[in-house]
Amino acid sequence: MLTAITGINWGDEGKGRMVDLLSENYDIVVRYQGGNNAGHTVVNERGKFILNLLPSGILRSDVVNIIGNGVVVDIKHLVGEINKLRDAGIVITPDNLKLSDRAVIVMPYHVDQDCLEEERLADAKFGSTKRGIGPVYGDKYMKKALRLGELLDSEEDLKERLRGIIEWKNLLIERGYGKEAIKFDDMWAYLKEYGDIVKDFICDTGHYLNRANREGKNIMFEAQLGALRDIDFGIYPFTSSSSTIAPYAPIGAGVPNLRLTNSVGIMKAYSTCVGEGPFTAEIFGDEADKLREAGNEYGAATGRPRRVGGFDVLASRYGVMAQGSDQIALTKLDVLSYMKEIPVCVAYKFEGEVLDDFPIGEKLFKAQPVYEYRKGWMKDISNCRSIEDLPKEAVDYIKYLEDVVDCKIKYVSVGPERDQYIVMP
Ligand code: GDP
Repeated sequence: MLTAITGINWGDEGKGRMVDLLSENYDIVVRYQGGNNAGHTVVNERGKFILNLLPSGILRSDVVNIIGNGVVVDIKHLVGEINKLRDAGIVITPDNLKLSDRAVIVMPYHVDQDCLEEERLADAKFGSTKRGIGPVYGDKYMKKALRLGELLDSEEDLKERLRGIIEWKNLLIERGYGKEAIKFDDMWAYLKEYGDIVKDFICDTGHYLNRANREGKNIMFEAQLGALRDIDFGIYPFTSSSSTIAPYAPIGAGVPNLRLTNSVGIMKAYSTCVGEGPFTAEIFGDEADKLREAGNEYGAATGRPRRVGGFDVLASRYGVMAQGSDQIALTKLDVLSYMKEIPVCVAYKFEGEVLDDFPIGEKLFKAQPVYEYRKGWMKDISNCRSIEDLPKEAVDYIKYLEDVVDCKIKYVSVGPERDQYIVMP
């Protein structure tokens, strides 16, 4: 079985928690896009873990974890993340962690470039997480990036490539931004220090995955960020720099020849969004503060308070379509338990026109939300474990969401712990 687990919204849907739960039935978990610019939070009996780069299966001792070619890898950050988990007693070896030799390396100058550009943009900034993700994906497509596999090549070859890239990059850093030039010696020392540690984990993960698939292993593809941050289908230019959607999973994982058997979309019971960009369903003031507190909506990677809003029908229906989801896992339903009436953004309005489909461009940037309210349940549901335990209003809300996004809601998460979920009949 090849299953993709992806986000329907803007990210932070609770993908990490669902991958942690569902990975029980999988032999391999693969990250296929993005870098360490977002975080998954996983709470289980071993503690609370924030994973930026490592696949969530790393917390299960019998799961092999792969960082695919579609990912961009900050090797210093990766080493830090590995060490933190090891300190917590998690065993990480080349047997349960494999890094694609085709994955691209995020260098310190990518992070610098990210910061310099946000600084230059000042008030018009994008709200980048400043982890160098945009610049490194840019370099990948300019064919000026280093790949993990090059760490295994001869030092002479790697030095020559690095020299050429730095010469090119300094045209921008030194002559463009007017900053101090990147020094070859610093970058070489950096590659040696961290590259030597990650070397043992690097291999041809595409062939590994193909073999595993032939042996009948179950493979899960884990996305970071949601459909609305996809570089093609998201809220461009306020998107991430990679393809976050399920159809890209086999490509970013290294198995473009394989077809997904299943696509599970993780959808939040309300809306949140980190950073800048259009977020039509956004609510403000007291109502927003209450929801942010109830859902503990602060960025896992950055600690930034998230913007919040009611469930967005247009954006979620579009997200389900972009992901091609077969089933949905609805998360954080318990967060809404304090609400007498639950706000739902059912349409957008733009210059008097009511929009039913998720728009782009000016329509998206200037749209106003049309809100309706659903009846709340005003009861703690975090101990519910079956549909029979849920208040009628909660079941009605789930059925309503299922109806408007036109996809079966198979799982409902009612808390962050591993066992706080319901399988819907
Ligand atoms: P991800 O990037 O999609 O994995 O999402 P984050 O890790 O940024 O955000 C999910 C947060 O919500 C984490 O702190 C989880 O522990 C928590 N969480 C996940 N599912 C639920 C749920 O059903 N209820 C509650 N209350 N918290 C949840």
